[in-house]
Amino acid sequence: MIIEKIDKWGMEIPNKIAHISGEKKLTYGELSKQSDILAAFIGEQLKDEEKKSPIAVRGHKKSEMLVGFLGAVKAGHPYVPIDSSIPEERAEKIIQSSKAGLVLNEEKIADIVAAGAGRALAEPIEMMPDDPFYILFTSGSTGEPKGVVITKRNLESFVSWMLEEQEFSEQKEVFLNQAPFSFDLSVMDVYPSLVTGGTLVSVTKDDIANPSKLHVALQNANPTVWVSTPSFAQLCLMEKTFGDSVLPNLRKFLFCGETLSPKTASDLLDRFSQCEIWNTYGPTEATVATSSIRITREIIDKFPSLPVGYPKSGCELRIYGENDRMLAAGESGEIIIVGDNVSPGYLGRPDLTERVFFMVEKMPAYRTGDQGYLKDGCLFFEGRMDNQIKLHGYRIELDDIAANLEVLSGIQRAVVMLKNVDGTNDFLVAFVGDENPEKQTEFERTKMLKKELSKKLPAYMIPKKIVFVPGSFPMTANGKVDRKILMASIN
Ligand code: AMP
Repeated sequence: MIIEKIDKWGMEIPNKIAHISGEKKLTYGELSKQSDILAAFIGEQLKDEEKKSPIAVRGHKKSEMLVGFLGAVKAGHPYVPIDSSIPEERAEKIIQSSKAGLVLNEEKIADIVAAGAGRALAEPIEMMPDDPFYILFTSGSTGEPKGVVITKRNLESFVSWMLEEQEFSEQKEVFLNQAPFSFDLSVMDVYPSLVTGGTLVSVTKDDIANPSKLHVALQNANPTVWVSTPSFAQLCLMEKTFGDSVLPNLRKFLFCGETLSPKTASDLLDRFSQCEIWNTYGPTEATVATSSIRITREIIDKFPSLPVGYPKSGCELRIYGENDRMLAAGESGEIIIVGDNVSPGYLGRPDLTERVFFMVEKMPAYRTGDQGYLKDGCLFFEGRMDNQIKLHGYRIELDDIAANLEVLSGIQRAVVMLKNVDGTNDFLVAFVGDENPEKQTEFERTKMLKKELSKKLPAYMIPKKIVFVPGSFPMTANGKVDRKILMASIN
């Protein structure tokens, strides 16, 4: 349904703009044709493959990324989006572990398209519902990113729900694309936009890094639908003029990925009196979002922690206690998602898959590791049960950072924690046991460790503070590292 719908716009409204990034615009006609050319190229390159290998698509926000995604799928292959902010070493790990048949980047795609004008796809390849559509790599606790496989069925289930619930107008919407394509939040704008004949407008990481540039980029984008993490909206709210006079067409804010605070929701309602605000919740493993709720003033006044909503159609939310005992309404436990939006598992990792994916009455189910409870069918999120955190919307396994630190020369032990400040200024702290082989000063050593780490991890995973712990780490009575004492040592 997804590819067919996008191609239908290519035939019916070929001159309508599908994507804008900076000065560059791509029409539906071009998107359709260029992805056909790329699919033909991929088909030729990998014609001897028995099983369709993933296609890695590297870059940032250029239209070629979308051409890459659709081209791969049209050739019957899943794609693996890799944003340019991911350092080479980690990108290489992702490419290796996905066993990508081809690695494309924005420039390469532009060249293939230019060279292949007029090329036609010999035989269109239709994906089956259980075929992987995309594979998205998230932070893994062992230091290795893990690839979540999302099938055509998963994605269709998610997109159909979005269209049904959000009632986007065909050919009229302008969707803001802020999240990198390697973060599944972007799926919430890419496909609802392309499937409804809307225009997707990307803001780049350069825009985001510069407040005045960002403000102009948002004004130029003039979206009707805003998709971002709450952190990004908070950043925008720091600009006093951010409001409906600057974005007059905006009708909806769709949030996902981290806690939406009552204050952010309330500030947005003050600044955008005509807008709906939606809080949606879900992990990558259950295709972007699983539950949603419109946040009104009434809800803000009623709940000090905002609810994350009601399950999407075709999906059930359960709360499990110890030994997988199903808990009653109001009781707090682990959030379990059951439904056709649940991924079949992690690519090539049956061990990890087995730990968190299972079946419930013939439906796929996923243990989120999130704590929460249900009240009148509505879900409330209460935090994580493990060492996974969200920092400015990014999902991070703290043990992923620790594992990457511990392989650096001289580091004997590393424990990474999030220092909570006020939600906006939270930062990562790494506590390290260090031999300091070059006998550097703490300042020099910190600088060097951060530099080494930035070759392995994206910028948002580099601890802001590194604390050198002399001797052994403090321990709790049951022999675990005493994280409380460590954190207290920096106050
Ligand atoms: P990701 O796979 O990057 O989307 O991260 C998924 C995790 O983000 C979930 O398991 C939650 O811990 C957290 N999360 C997602 N949506 C929300 C939300 N609306 N409120 C609070 N936490 C959220």
